[in-house]
Amino acid sequence: MEGEIITIGTELVSGRTLDLNAWYAAGRLAASGLQVTRITSVGDDYDKVSDALTRALAVSRFVIVTGGLGATDDDITSEIVAGALDRPLCLDKQMFQLIKHHSAARGLKVTASMEKMAWMPRGSRMLNPEGTACGFCLMEKDIPLYFLPGVPDQMRYLMDNFVLPEIIGLFETLPVVRQRVLKLYGLNEPSIAEMLGDLRNQTKGIVFGFYPNFPENHITLSLRGQDETSVLRELDRVKDEIKRLVGPGIFSEGSENMEEIIGQGLAEKDLTLSTAESCTGGLIGHRLTNVPGSSAYYMGGMVVYSNQAKIDLLGVSAETLEAQGAVSDRTVREMAEGVRRRMQTDLGLAVTGIAGPDGATKDKPVGTVHLGLAVESETFSRKYRFWGTREQVKHNTSMMALDWIRRYMNGYPFLPGL
Ligand code: AMP
Ligand code: MG
Repeated sequence: MEGEIITIGTELVSGRTLDLNAWYAAGRLAASGLQVTRITSVGDDYDKVSDALTRALAVSRFVIVTGGLGATDDDITSEIVAGALDRPLCLDKQMFQLIKHHSAARGLKVTASMEKMAWMPRGSRMLNPEGTACGFCLMEKDIPLYFLPGVPDQMRYLMDNFVLPEIIGLFETLPVVRQRVLKLYGLNEPSIAEMLGDLRNQTKGIVFGFYPNFPENHITLSLRGQDETSVLRELDRVKDEIKRLVGPGIFSEGSENMEEIIGQGLAEKDLTLSTAESCTGGLIGHRLTNVPGSSAYYMGGMVVYSNQAKIDLLGVSAETLEAQGAVSDRTVREMAEGVRRRMQTDLGLAVTGIAGPDGATKDKPVGTVHLGLAVESETFSRKYRFWGTREQVKHNTSMMALDWIRRYMNGYPFLPGL
């Protein structure tokens, strides 16, 4: 079923605000098996919005509109709908009661601009009659039109709780839609495509989605069917086939991120970890500690940015730093061993590199990063080259470092370095 999204707001077309609503609505609809074929953003302009609405109604089976439902003068969506669809604004008594009720609870008087929100195009139905986030729906020649607030949180709430269930009920031919997500790291899109071969052509009905999410790649599989058991069975069959083809490049099979996956692994294997960070400035520790309960396995870390800090806090030798430089295999090994020894953990993880944009030398370009991992029996180290801005190099370094822990715990080889 093909539908359309229209997001309204001058801030969207002037580049002041990133359009989060179209992104969210399209993602949710696609995951439910409903296809969005066009997304239009228009400023708060009567004629432009009117045009967009008329055009969408001519070609779509459903239309979702966000923005312009507020109390301010530039919020004119209702007025435009009234004009474009010839449905004069009527006072929705239920909505007006709700506004009065909320105002009274806050000790506010109902102003004209607040009352304005209760005037809706004739034939509209409130989507959320009990709550504060307000939107409405109307049927125009069998095409449902949903009008949602611009505020992203409110829009998402209405989308998930009212619009999606309704719209799926209106259109579905097959009752069950399920999705599987695989998260990959360390592979670029062409190599993923090559690994998957023509799997896509052998899996009738499954909709594949490929989403680069720097520095990760996500693959989604969606399938609609008659009953849950067979839909899930088919999805899992294809998911397992992808796992077989891609191998350890897949780090997560659900909503979990890398730090959560590592946390689970460390906790299960009863291993403790400490970190020594130079170019990431604490980012790895930050990510690890974003996971609730991480104190069970993450003992702590040191941000050792200067040579002196590496010497004083980790016992890296001055000779190593002098002879090899701070960004070198020898240094990162001494860092990993130093932090493991001082923090008395099973694993000591270290990174040192050049995040840029300055600091490069002829043989150490921006993005050169050395990773080290010390365990009881040995120490691993490898050199990588990352691309992008300073922030991207830091982010990718933290990802690779965390991925090392995952690979070490599972006995997978580390990603090849330089
Ligand atoms: P409105 O409903 O148009 O009054 O918008 C209310 C608030 O939500 C404003 O601060 C807008 O900048 C924001 N907003 C509206 N539409 C979007 C959108 N598509 N994406 C992100 N923010 C939005
Ligand atoms: Mg607006």
